[in-house]
Amino acid sequence: MKVLFLAHTEEGGGLGKAALEALGAAKGLGFELVVGLYGAEVQAGADAIAGCGAAKFLGVAGADFATARYGSDASACEAIAKAAGADLIVMPATARASRVAAGVALRLGAAVDTRLTGLEAAEGKVVATRWFYRQRMVGRIERDARPWLVTVDSGCFEAPSDMKGAASVEMLSPAVATRTVVTGVKSPAADAQTIRPEAKMLLVAGAGWGKSQAGGMKRLDEASQLILSLIGATKCSLGSSKSLVDQSGEGGALPFLTHMHQVGQTGSTPRHQKGLATCCHGEEPHVVGWRFITERRAINLDASCGWAQGKADVLYVADAFAVVKALVELLK
Ligand SMILES: Cc1cc2nc3c(=O)[nH]c(=O)nc-3n(C[C@H](O)[C@H](O)[C@H](O)COP(=O)(O)OP(=O)(O)OC[C@H]3O[C@@H](n4cnc5c(N)ncnc54)[C@H](O)[C@@H]3O)c2cc1C
Repeated sequence: MKVLFLAHTEEGGGLGKAALEALGAAKGLGFELVVGLYGAEVQAGADAIAGCGAAKFLGVAGADFATARYGSDASACEAIAKAAGADLIVMPATARASRVAAGVALRLGAAVDTRLTGLEAAEGKVVATRWFYRQRMVGRIERDARPWLVTVDSGCFEAPSDMKGAASVEMLSPAVATRTVVTGVKSPAADAQTIRPEAKMLLVAGAGWGKSQAGGMKRLDEASQLILSLIGATKCSLGSSKSLVDQSGEGGALPFLTHMHQVGQTGSTPRHQKGLATCCHGEEPHVVGWRFITERRAINLDASCGWAQGKADVLYVADAFAVVKALVELLK
């Protein structure tokens, strides 16, 4: 069996941690190894792993391949994989590689599995391991299909060391079929995101924010503005109940919510020290997501909501619109 380790280089032409770990995964199988690198420059990366035992080094380099761009990255990966003729292609599960993995597999007629956590050779067969159902089940996969393209998660494989040397890289020149021109990279401000795992407090927004309030009107714009103001003032993290997230999917409710915000049985289990639930009923499938949050408070109009049933330390029976507005004023 022939294994291709296929990775992009970083700025300066070297290899990142995730790529080196993926090399560890590919090399650890013990089969014939080919290295394929793409990026603005590849020689420094190839030299850094010259002693990895690869039979061949293939490369695609140039300004066209400097930045992550689907068309050019996919062309580079396709050209390298075709030149290598490998049975198994191992890529790191970086954002850049993950973006093209499935498309490259399609171009090659390969099977694809992503974010593997284990890869081993047993009796001539390759056995992969990965999580299913949000890390509730671990599965072992074997495939007869060849080629087989996989991406491996970072933190699961050891990066081999002491491999420096002088590698002779066979350069390929694939045609770049893309209409996208990269003019620069713009990143959002570091505090622009609303999911902040490192924050001390989690603010949960429930479906009540999107419901008709006293007077019979929905107050969605006001709800959005109040929630974002409180997040801005406290730098807390935002979570949501499933009901509110589902409303967002249908074009209603709060425009900045995604399913990534959902806390609960079928959502996430955040680990913030404190939690404040607002306009959320506190039903069991939601509250199970709070099991690591030890200091809990809730604001609800309903004195007999779930939070009052021993699920929160303090329940404020009040209008969350009024409370959050006053809170934001106090924090100014
Ligand atoms: C298999 C399964 C899995 C599930 N997984 C999840 C999950 O992962 N996460 C999750 O969240 N849910 C989950 N659910 C759904 C869950 O059971 C509830 O339906 C959901 O949590 C309800 O969301 P909510 O409390 O925001 O909405 P609602 O039940 O509609 O409650 C809204 C609350 O807002 C209050 N309110 C309204 N206006 C105001 C105001 N002005 N001020 C203060 N309070 C106000 C109301 O009194 C009410 O209590 C799951 C259900 C099932 C069956």
